[in-house]
Amino acid sequence: MNFHEYQAKQLFADYGIAVPAGRVARTPEEAVAAAKDIPGDLWVVKAQIHAGGRGKAGGVKLAKNFDEVKQYAAAMLGTKMETYQSAGVALPIDTVLISEGTDIASELYLSVLVDRSTQSITFIASAEGGVEIEKVAEENPDAIKSLHVNYVQGLQPYQCRQMGFDLGLDAKQVGQLTKIMMGLYKLFNEKDLALVELNPLAILTNGDLAVLDGKVNSDDNATFRHKDLAAMRDIRQEDETEVQASQHDLNYVTMDGNIGCMVNGAGLAMATMDVISLEGGSPANFLDVGGGATKERVTEAFKLILSSDKVKAIFVNIFGGIVRCDMIAEGIIAAVKEVDVKVPVIVRLEGTNVEAGKELLKNSGLAITPADDINDGAKKAVAAVANAA
Ligand code: GDP
Ligand code: MG
Repeated sequence: MNFHEYQAKQLFADYGIAVPAGRVARTPEEAVAAAKDIPGDLWVVKAQIHAGGRGKAGGVKLAKNFDEVKQYAAAMLGTKMETYQSAGVALPIDTVLISEGTDIASELYLSVLVDRSTQSITFIASAEGGVEIEKVAEENPDAIKSLHVNYVQGLQPYQCRQMGFDLGLDAKQVGQLTKIMMGLYKLFNEKDLALVELNPLAILTNGDLAVLDGKVNSDDNATFRHKDLAAMRDIRQEDETEVQASQHDLNYVTMDGNIGCMVNGAGLAMATMDVISLEGGSPANFLDVGGGATKERVTEAFKLILSSDKVKAIFVNIFGGIVRCDMIAEGIIAAVKEVDVKVPVIVRLEGTNVEAGKELLKNSGLAITPADDINDGAKKAVAAVANAA
């Protein structure tokens, strides 16, 4: 689950990490009231969306007076913003964060994540902040410092100090960094997070470190034990189809191709997408209907796939292990009738009761193209899309 910057900063503050004064606003008037609550003569108006890269997209504006605060907030609120990190989707700006403006001398990068290769919680830092870490990794890998935390010992203050000196910080800044890192480590563990990113962690002209941006991502498998985090969910920032899918316990991810996929089992779903790509096509989605696929779930799955008008063909690829192919065939037939599917449907069934399943499909009178195996199915789906074009 993703969080807004203002929510991330609230979590940081709860763990003793200093963050710039800030208030959220949902209208331009509220934005002015928020700015009046924050002392100083510079404010930052920040669009709250589930994506970074807002600065370049016009979602981070420095305001020198209340009129500018109002003007920037008005320009952002109620609009949608696409950034180079929003995967081609324009996200709604329902809220802006009005934050205390600061004078930046330089920008650092700091993140915490679970590193699978070392099986440890890992801090990544760089003195080259403000840009994407992937870019730094490519162009100047030596600028990236990482620190793997031993899970039994936990993060030790001396390790934070070492990191601070590696980043070229002075003694006072090292003390501030230590406090930030110790707080982040505790937050990360206690809230079952998957990622925290401070970019930038700024060095201000007065020499202090300041947390100017915060990105937090939590582990969905642990949401059930964090009611406070669950309450922060903003489904308006999420893909509508994916939200619908999760309500039906379907594992669905929207992709940008045109072949809708309905598959049981995540591994088979991945393989199906690979084979479609291999055949020169591109999948419109990842969809795992699960091992216990029922007629109802198959119908819901068809509805989800067809909710996108990008879908030009559907490839159903089912391995009947726990489920029986004849039951799946019945589900497909019912779904195609109920949902009024207008695009070609290619079905590959294998496994338990496969003959009975194929027989049902053949006798259904519906325009369903049978496929012998995964490669044949992918080929036929790609050909169907080419024919439709
Ligand atoms: P992002 O583009 O979505 O990552 O949004 P950020 O919150 O990181 O803001 C983008 C950039 O705006 C930062 O890298 C800073 O250079 C600048 N910025 C953000 N907050 C402040 C601030 O308080 N003062 C100043 N002068 N610049 C800021
Ligand atoms: Mg940022």
